[in-house]
Amino acid sequence: MTLAELLPSIGCSTEPVLEEGLWPDGTHLSGADLVIGGIPATRLAARFGTPCQVLDEATVRSRARAFAIALPEAEVVFAGKSLPCPEVYRWMAQEGLSLDVSSAGELALARTAGFPAKRIVMHGNVKTSEDLKAALEYGVSRIVVDSFDEIAQLGALATHGQEVMIRVTPGVDAHTHAAIATGVEDQKFGFSLKTGAALEAILRVAEQPSLRLVGLHCHIGSQVRHVASYEETVRRMVDLIAKCGVRIEQLDLGGGFCAPYLPTESTFDLFGFAQRVRGTLNYECALHRVPVPRILIEPGRSIVANAGVTLYRVCAVKHGENRTFVAVDGGMSDNPRPALYGAKYAVRLIGRGGKLQPCTVVGRHCEAGDVLAEGVLPADVHAGDVLAMPATGAYHHALASNYNQVCRPPIIAVNDGVARPIVRRETEEDLLRRYL
Ligand SMILES: *Cc1c(COP(=O)(O)O)cnc(C)c1O
Repeated sequence: MTLAELLPSIGCSTEPVLEEGLWPDGTHLSGADLVIGGIPATRLAARFGTPCQVLDEATVRSRARAFAIALPEAEVVFAGKSLPCPEVYRWMAQEGLSLDVSSAGELALARTAGFPAKRIVMHGNVKTSEDLKAALEYGVSRIVVDSFDEIAQLGALATHGQEVMIRVTPGVDAHTHAAIATGVEDQKFGFSLKTGAALEAILRVAEQPSLRLVGLHCHIGSQVRHVASYEETVRRMVDLIAKCGVRIEQLDLGGGFCAPYLPTESTFDLFGFAQRVRGTLNYECALHRVPVPRILIEPGRSIVANAGVTLYRVCAVKHGENRTFVAVDGGMSDNPRPALYGAKYAVRLIGRGGKLQPCTVVGRHCEAGDVLAEGVLPADVHAGDVLAMPATGAYHHALASNYNQVCRPPIIAVNDGVARPIVRRETEEDLLRRYL
């Protein structure tokens, strides 16, 4: 006899539990409804319409804090591109994090949020002169240079002691999707360690009187599961620090810590990471007789992904030869990740139960590849039902488009029973504004 079978006989409820780590903290079932941030999801869908992105503030804040607690000696820099939104940037500022931006546009959001310039880092493999000028004007504390062209350009634009870091490609394979593996050789990001370009970049920055080299930066990819990849990165970066003969005060290890999208996936081992990276750094620095630099890390996805849930309404159901297609009122315009990276998602029908069967959840866009998820839903799923998709907080709002001139969904922040939009739903008026 299983525990679930046993429980009713001793008077406990046998409500199915939600998959650990996938949903915002505290999300639970109440009957067939899903309660997120203290509010039933069916009520959120009715009040704010669908599609709708729900973001649990307490989860975002507690994940941000978890990084700061695990690595108190480090500077934790939120990767602003993962969820570009002034209100979210404000939460990060309040939690004591710094902020990464990669364009004048992301910087404009940071300015609107009143994010302190001394805690902003700008990176990106292409920064236009507008991006660089905006960064200098706001007084962004550090700029991560990514090419010889940029070193010369920034050297000419900056007036006094602009702090810079150098983006290094350490040649570490983080075993992730090719489109998000940014640490391996022969790709567009950074200065290669192997070819000597990284050492050359250190010399070039030193030649620019208006620039001051404060650190080295690397980012080995996204959805990185293995702490060993970061340990190997630390070894290679400290080796470079020892070779270059210049005092390096900061070592930025980038982000990329994995987040679970499916029930079978686990969360990132943050404390293991902190311990092993700290140990490796101290050991390698002692071995090479160089001072231990201050560590920076740049989590994005691992802070916001699982704080987000997208609610869709079912618009049509088709029974194909071998499978059931469930078409919803969103799709690749609010979530292009399946089409871009083959990303997989879980899905759950809310508001009622039923015998489950496999279904393919598809979007409304004019592409056969507009598939959101393979999942299980009640066999009688029909138009009007509401679906909830977890792990949609990172790179959804950020990557959303207006394909088919579909208006982008709002972001509704929930916290302790209170819901408020922090990004409003796009309107046709917004769309028409740009056409001349
Ligand atoms: C995208 C990016 C990050 C954040 O990556 P996540 O996978 O969201 O943690 C951090 N640093 C740099 C330089 C990036 O490009």
